[in-house]
Amino acid sequence: MVMRMLVTGGAGYIGSHLVDRLVHLGHNVSVIDNLSTGSLQNLHGAQPHIEFVEGSILDEALVERLVRDTDVVFHLAAAVGVGHIVEKPLASLITNVRGAEHVIGAAMAYDKRLLVASTSEIYGKTKKMPMSEDDDRVLGSTTIARWGYSTAKAIDEHLALAHAAEGRRVSVVRYFNSYGPRLDPRGYGSVVANLMRQALNNEPLTVHGDGTQTRCFTYVTDTVECTVRAGLDDGAQGLVFNVGNDRETTILELARKIIALTGSRSDVSFVSYEARYGKGFEDTVRRVPDVRRARDVLNFSARVDLDEGLQRTLTWWRETYA
Ligand code: UDP
Repeated sequence: MVMRMLVTGGAGYIGSHLVDRLVHLGHNVSVIDNLSTGSLQNLHGAQPHIEFVEGSILDEALVERLVRDTDVVFHLAAAVGVGHIVEKPLASLITNVRGAEHVIGAAMAYDKRLLVASTSEIYGKTKKMPMSEDDDRVLGSTTIARWGYSTAKAIDEHLALAHAAEGRRVSVVRYFNSYGPRLDPRGYGSVVANLMRQALNNEPLTVHGDGTQTRCFTYVTDTVECTVRAGLDDGAQGLVFNVGNDRETTILELARKIIALTGSRSDVSFVSYEARYGKGFEDTVRRVPDVRRARDVLNFSARVDLDEGLQRTLTWWRETYA
C-alpha cells in the first residue's frame, strides 16, 4: 500500500538512505531537515521524487503541519555524534529533547504511526554484553557532557513508550555504529569516516586510547532495512529494537583494515582521549547488540560484513571526492 511518509532529518546520513529506500518502495516521501549536518547533496537522487522542506524540528508549527499531512513519521532528526555533543552540549540537548517532543507530540495528536530513532549510546558504559533492549542503563555523572546525549534520547524513548502504553502506534530503534556512503568526510560522528579520510590523505590514523575498545559496525543498507521494518511492521509496535551487526571489531583492527584497503602509506597514531575530547571523557569500552529481537520479530539480520561495507564506502568516497 502506498503511504505518505515524513522523515525528519531526511537529508542526514542515515535519513537520506532511508528516504531513498522509501521512495524505492513507492511511497510518497516528505523530508524536514535544517541542513545542519545533513546536505541536499545526500538527497540528490531522491529529490525529484520527494517534498523537501528546509526547517527545524524546533519550529513546532511547521512540524505540526507536516505531520498532519502524513501517514507515518520516521523521526531521525537529532544532534548526533559524540564529538558534536561534547562541543555543543546545550544546543544538542535542546534539539534532542524539545525537538523530539514536538515531533512525538504532533504524531500522537494526529494519531500517526511513529518510529523514533535512538542510539546504542542509551546503554552507556554497561559491561553486560551483548546489550539487550531491556537491560539496565549505566551512565556517568551529569558533569560529563557525553552522557547528556544518552539521557536526552532516553527521554525520547520514554515519551514514545508512554504513548505506546496508551495503545498508540510507536516503535523505537537503537542504532549501533552505522557506516557507509554519505558519512561526513570530516569524520564527524564516525570513526570510519575519520580514519578513511586520514588514510586517503596519507596522514596518521588517530586511534584513541590503546585501540582495544570495540564497536559493531553496521552497514547503512542494513541499518535502513531494519528501520523500515520497525517502522511499518504491525508486530513492531510498542517495542524497542537494537539495529546492528553483532560482529565486534576493535578500533585498532578497523584502522589496520582501512590502511590495507586504501593502500595508504599511513601508520597508526595513538591519541589520548583527553587530547581529543578534553578532561573527564569516558569512552564505552565494548558495544555489542543483542540482535535476537530484530531477528525474531522483524525477521531481520545484518547482511553486509565489514570488509564488503568498507569497500563500498571507499568506492563511494573515491567517486565523490576524486
Ligand atoms: N575513535 C578513534 N579515532 C577517531 C575517532 C574515533 O579511535 O578518529 C574511537 C572513539 O574514541 C570510540 C570509537 O572510535 O572509541 C567509535 O567512535 P565514534 O565517534 O565513531 O562513535 P561512538 O561509538 O563512540 O558513538
